[in-house]
Amino acid sequence: GGVSVGVGAAGHLAVSGATKRFGAALVLDDLSIAVAKGEFVSLLGPSGCGKTTLLRCVAGLLRPDAGRILVGGADITTLPAHRRNVGVVFQNYALFPHLTVAENIGFGLRAQGVAKREAAPRIAEALRLVRMEAHADKAITALSGGQQQRVAVARALVVRPSLLLLDEPFSALDRKLRETMQVELKQLLREVGITAIFVTHDQEEALVVSDRIAVMNAGRIEQLADPAALYGRPSSLYVLDFVGQSTRLSGRVVETASNEIAIDTALGRIWAPGSFLRGSPVIVAVRPEAVTLGSAQDGAANHITARVAEISFLGSRTQLHLDLVEPDRGVVELPRLPDGIAPGASVPLSFRVADAMVFPAP
Ligand code: ATP
Repeated sequence: GGVSVGVGAAGHLAVSGATKRFGAALVLDDLSIAVAKGEFVSLLGPSGCGKTTLLRCVAGLLRPDAGRILVGGADITTLPAHRRNVGVVFQNYALFPHLTVAENIGFGLRAQGVAKREAAPRIAEALRLVRMEAHADKAITALSGGQQQRVAVARALVVRPSLLLLDEPFSALDRKLRETMQVELKQLLREVGITAIFVTHDQEEALVVSDRIAVMNAGRIEQLADPAALYGRPSSLYVLDFVGQSTRLSGRVVETASNEIAIDTALGRIWAPGSFLRGSPVIVAVRPEAVTLGSAQDGAANHITARVAEISFLGSRTQLHLDLVEPDRGVVELPRLPDGIAPGASVPLSFRVADAMVFPAP
């Protein structure tokens, strides 16, 4: 069986053992996930890992070859899409260009046979939620990308779905607008209290919007955790590399103490938490902001010296890219660049034992 992750059978959405093949390609591999009521979970992973396929199975647009999908305890695995009470927001919004904003939002209500008298206040409420009250009678084509995005969300929410599915909803927006919309969506969904699944390949976006993130790898869930845990305690090198940056050094365990090990690397000996056998080949990693310049950091037991290859000024902080030999690589983040550090310089660096993460070498 696959890794079972989530909150167990009590999840509002529970996918268990979902498997999907397209020809010879195994796109969902015995995947299970449970999402609690009101939770906002992102599916994060590289192109082709199966995110959209999982979303389409939940929406009822695809039938898994094996496995079950439950919403609110009811098995919907074989239910057609239009009977699932699931709202979907697609990448391209799929709005009707010949209808007004209000008509687009009301479309699903009409399809459900909701009377005009009841539909009007619900459309108004949906417009209010996405702050589009002033645009009700506008043509879709007269709206900006961000406004169209909001209409698509309102249209999905107006039918009061038990689940909201969003497939890369911000991919058509520029970076600045994307960031605004991410925060806006998070606030909106909290206000509505709806359970939502959000597909993205953008790790920063996943960190911003999600209560929890499911990192997918080849049709499976590699790790499901809240953003801080995913970043701070990645369960594998795959997650470490996919979420955030790090300095990662290959080495070999040379000493073992009670709950700590010493690893010899190209930059010297590093102590880390963990229990690996002496002689084990490992990768030791540390996040960029956990490293400080200088050798006298309070409580830091790890001191290394590295050569700076390149310096990137990022506005609120500066990154030092370290000169290391593949497969090792390094990036360190400083609040500001001290005088006298230029590419080619050797710099003393230190970090705490607790901030070192160890993984078995691949
Ligand atoms: P992306 O970010 O590119 O959308 P994804 O993680 O959402 O990636 P999926 O769209 O789920 O990935 O696709 C996973 C794999 O399944 C891909 O290799 C894709 O080519 C294949 N695939 C998806 N849908 C079909 C289909 N209807 N027929 C055949 N192959 C498909």
